[in-house]
Amino acid sequence: IGFVGQYDKEVAEAMNHELLRQRRNLELIASENIVTPAVMAAMGSVLTNKYAEGYSGKRYYGGCECVDVVEDIAIARAKELFGAEHVNVQPHSGAQANLAVYFALLNPGDTVLGMNLAHGGHLTHGSPVNMSGKYYNFVPYGVDSETGRIDYDKLRALAIENKPKLIVAGASAYPRAIDFAKISEIAKEVGAYFMVDMAHIAGLVAAGEHASPVPYADVVTTTTHKTLRGPRGGMILCKEELGKQIDKAIFPGTQGGPLMHVIAAKAVCLGEALSDSFKAYQHQVVKNAAALAEALSKKGFSLVSGGTDNHLILLDLRSMNITGKELEKRLDTVYITVNKNAIPDDPQSPFVTSGIRIGTPAVTSRGLKEEDMEVIADCIYKTATDYENTAEDVRAAVSALCAKYPLYE
Ligand code: PLP
Repeated sequence: IGFVGQYDKEVAEAMNHELLRQRRNLELIASENIVTPAVMAAMGSVLTNKYAEGYSGKRYYGGCECVDVVEDIAIARAKELFGAEHVNVQPHSGAQANLAVYFALLNPGDTVLGMNLAHGGHLTHGSPVNMSGKYYNFVPYGVDSETGRIDYDKLRALAIENKPKLIVAGASAYPRAIDFAKISEIAKEVGAYFMVDMAHIAGLVAAGEHASPVPYADVVTTTTHKTLRGPRGGMILCKEELGKQIDKAIFPGTQGGPLMHVIAAKAVCLGEALSDSFKAYQHQVVKNAAALAEALSKKGFSLVSGGTDNHLILLDLRSMNITGKELEKRLDTVYITVNKNAIPDDPQSPFVTSGIRIGTPAVTSRGLKEEDMEVIADCIYKTATDYENTAEDVRAAVSALCAKYPLYE
């Protein structure tokens, strides 16, 4: 940032404020993380200058011999980490990865089963406002209203009734383990392709903290910036026989030149993910989420599905008489960052919601442990129930935690 400031004070000042905000706040947005300096340096590198349309060894531009090496390393590491047969590291984002898979496997109008956005699925899994929902006939499945867990029996019934060409599993706000083996059986039964979008849990999968979808799915998509702790971007893993089709759907199907600086950062991140310290980190992410879930339950909060198996918690705030929108706003003022989130069958609109989603990947990268989760639960409880009288104390408690675990010092 100091370097940018020598050339552009206006932008550097805004960037510096963001650094200070990240240092001052506890980041509990479940889809965010804090990358290592090596991942960040790879992104801010000369590789941003290079056009490399095509794939390693078969480019449409000269001078690609060095970036070929980088892309080959990223692919080899992803294969090793996830045990995948074929990998494409070029998707610019998770949404692009999903779109490319649909483009590869489906025709417009084809029927697909995807998890309902209102039950924790992602926009790109068939929401009517997204291209997926406009171009394909998505039929939503969801969670059981009693247990908050995916209703696999209903999913199977929907699959038999609708005969989809593709079943999509994966979620953005689902706190429980997903049974990929079971959904793959259903897909086989109805002759559908099976795609898993593991964006949220990729880091957990890499470290063995969540069952891997790779042995069960025809195609696995992911983002690289959530639990996997890499640069913002996407990736596709698939069986060898679909490799050519998937590659063609990314380029020239839906993208132009790959972001080689981001692919370099993906390679660095995947190298980190192969280390023992990364496994220990993911184990701590899950332990912290469990500790936070227990501490919040003890304070009287209601958790969708009653707890968590992964890195995130979905609070049902209805019994606390506060909306997701209001609690998100209050927490912002005491330096805790979360997002409002719909709970299954939410009576409030998506702009208000009855829930907040809380995740532990970023605070765990910062170094926080189980005992710190109790402090966080107390801060959230005070902010929800007695904001006026406690805001100053909560701010002090958050500042003490942030000082204990400095960021990018
Ligand atoms: N898939 C899932 C399950 C997600 O949660 C997200 C992001 O929130 C995406 C895809 C989209 O990723 P991106 O924001 O990189 O397009």
